[in-house]
Amino acid sequence: MSQATVIGLGEMGAALAGALVRGGRSVTVWNRTGAKAERLVREGAVLAPSAADAVRASPVVVVCVSDYRATRDVLETKEVAAALAGRALIQLSTGTPKEARDAEAWTLRHGAEYLDGAILAWPSQIGGTETVLLASGARATYQRSEALLRTVAGGVTYMGEAIGLSSALFAAVLSYLAGRWIGLCHGARICEVEGLSVASFGATLARLAPVLGEDARHMGEVIEKGAYANPESTLGTAGADIGRLVQHAEEAGINAEVPRFAAALFRRAIDAGYGAEEHAALIKVLRT
Ligand code: NAP
Repeated sequence: MSQATVIGLGEMGAALAGALVRGGRSVTVWNRTGAKAERLVREGAVLAPSAADAVRASPVVVVCVSDYRATRDVLETKEVAAALAGRALIQLSTGTPKEARDAEAWTLRHGAEYLDGAILAWPSQIGGTETVLLASGARATYQRSEALLRTVAGGVTYMGEAIGLSSALFAAVLSYLAGRWIGLCHGARICEVEGLSVASFGATLARLAPVLGEDARHMGEVIEKGAYANPESTLGTAGADIGRLVQHAEEAGINAEVPRFAAALFRRAIDAGYGAEEHAALIKVLRT
């Protein structure tokens, strides 16, 4: 028996398996495309000949494949499902809260324990002392798996027994990132058309990171308390500034779809009477 099995050796799965091996664990691995295991085998992992053999090899089975559909492709065969009984399955593929609930029900029906995790990191950060991995599921299962999870992510955070909590927070963080990535690319177009260095723009954002982080924390508190009054800067001011981004895009002849989308949301909030409130009051438009 090895201490842990890792199924899925893409960018993330290979990073997870590598961190476990370097952390001194005995690790069995399996991947649909076996060649991806070569480096890990040189480092000390054992390549199982089949997914069922990989599951049988360890009391803890970590799955990190593209999504839950791929997980089902691997696990939902008679032989693999039977092999899972009595083991703990830790799902680290990204999915939705409903997919996590369905996967938990399926796993429990097959006599195994289940934890659902979400990785808030890039593969190169796996194994780091600050790396954040969210985990939800039965507390006792988490406690038995915590040391192993801490080997791959020192900042592992237990979210609670409700299995969908990790994927829900992952989805919320991803929504935030999506806005940032789109905004950064439009900002880069502004730099390109106005003769600014895009790399310097990125560096400026990095310098502002603590302030931007504080804005996120502040917005979270404002929305949770419903305390939108007495803002330092109003939604109306932000809306006017974002409206000017549309004007700039039209003047400069660049694609205007990102500022148009943002300006329209702010316009709706202003028209609904929230212009004198905190910019977080934009959420009221999204609740309708
Ligand atoms: P990846 O490099 O594309 O690897 C995908 C893995 O899934 C490979 O092992 C692939 O096997 C396997 N796979 C896909 N479809 C399959 C199927 N039908 N049957 C069996 N195996 C299948 O992706 P990744 O970056 O490792 O991401 C894996 C998970 O980690 C995803 O859910 C992702 O959202 C999550 N994640 C990734 C990052 C990141 O930065 N990469 C960050 C946070 C979370 P083959 O090698 O045979 O194709």
